[in-house]
Amino acid sequence: MLKIYNTLSRHKEEFKPINPPHVGMYVCGPTVYGDAHLGHARAAITFDLLYRYLKHLGYKVRYVRNITDVGHLENDADFGEDKIGKRARLEELEPMEIVQRYTNGYHHNMEQLNTLPPDIEPHASGHIIEQQLFTEKILKNGYAYESNGSIYFDVEKYNRDHHYGKLSGRKLEDLISNTRDLEGQEEKRHPYDFALWKKATPGHIMKWPSRWSEGYPGWHIECSTMSTKYLGDTFDIHGGGMDLLFPHHECEIAQSTAALGKESVRYWMHNNLITINGQKMGKSLGNAISLNELFSGDHKLLEKAYSPMAVRFFILQAHYRSTLDFSNRAVQASEKGLERLFDGMETLEKIEASATSTYDPEELYNKCHEALDDDLNTPVLISHLFEGVKQIHLVASGKGSLTAEDLEKMKKLFATFVYDILGLKQEDKPAQESAADDLIRLILDIRMEAKEKKDFETADKIRNMLSGLGIVVKDVPGGYEWEWK
Ligand code: ZN
Repeated sequence: MLKIYNTLSRHKEEFKPINPPHVGMYVCGPTVYGDAHLGHARAAITFDLLYRYLKHLGYKVRYVRNITDVGHLENDADFGEDKIGKRARLEELEPMEIVQRYTNGYHHNMEQLNTLPPDIEPHASGHIIEQQLFTEKILKNGYAYESNGSIYFDVEKYNRDHHYGKLSGRKLEDLISNTRDLEGQEEKRHPYDFALWKKATPGHIMKWPSRWSEGYPGWHIECSTMSTKYLGDTFDIHGGGMDLLFPHHECEIAQSTAALGKESVRYWMHNNLITINGQKMGKSLGNAISLNELFSGDHKLLEKAYSPMAVRFFILQAHYRSTLDFSNRAVQASEKGLERLFDGMETLEKIEASATSTYDPEELYNKCHEALDDDLNTPVLISHLFEGVKQIHLVASGKGSLTAEDLEKMKKLFATFVYDILGLKQEDKPAQESAADDLIRLILDIRMEAKEKKDFETADKIRNMLSGLGIVVKDVPGGYEWEWK
């Protein structure tokens, strides 16, 4: 029985989908104005793990993850430049060139991290009309107002009928005293009101016509609109990083409740953030490490390059709701741990079956399941896998034994949890490359046999043909060596 921690109720709840075996899952994706970094990796891997596990449990999951390509302004505020528009201006490119470039980059990084692509990946810019219609509903229900061509959500009015702040545990009174007076706020009735539609200022590039003004949607409205468009007015899971909890997700709840008369989301899930050497990650602090830098080692804080799988394992070794501190030492420890895990799996392949078993894989299998059922407790799952590795080495060194049936169970256990659910893969050599190596060794074994039969014609022919393919063969006592030219 899967239990997940619901940010809204603040405790672990048994997961019961609305319409089993179907599960609808929405995750806030990136704003595509720069390279993806460790924070993106943690969110993507957390919800990739959930997606994989739900599928393993037999659910048919529709996983929607958006691309924010319009309406996300600097400082997450309602005034200022659009993050993408700004990048486009600085680089003298079309905003959609920026969007394409960083969407491609994000996809590439996510593939390197072996995260499965979402089933639907909607772009905010492709849903302008839907966002306008959603805004109309909120206006019609009296929870928004027009001001100078922009539409703002009326937080105070909403809070009279509902509770604004229920997700983040805030009260409106606290917000009132904490809201800074920012420039350009005079259009709003209250500083904590937020934009659903913004009239474009002169020089703003990304804008669309509407009955209110030529403008663009606010940042929060896209997720309310696109999640309900693809998953229905009420759906199962909404995920994202903890940095999005307030105001983004708080505003989403308010928007959906105001427009649809009910909350859209059953389970809110948030992954915790990554710190770097104990510090918050940020561009201004000079410690924001992009995934490209991480995989190439090209950053002043990095001692070396780290492989995507080492990074994935590093992230999975912490529970998704715990903070995770990145340091060279910590990732190098994960690198070694992952090697140990794969080494155990390789050893397992070589073990020969015995008549009796000294170990019961079934028990381990159940323990692994229990760990994941307990709000995706990956650190506990991984410790169980290492317990399995220990048993494998005991059997391999003759201090234990496994029957053919238990050997199969053990292999299936590791393949299921390590490959299918944790999404790890052996990456030293691409599969094709190691198959090519095996093929070359096979041919060279045939050549050895020919030589032993004094068939030097065939032996030389093979060597010349391999040489033509760029493979150098050297005869050494008792065998051969080979390498690529
Ligand atoms: Zn969102």
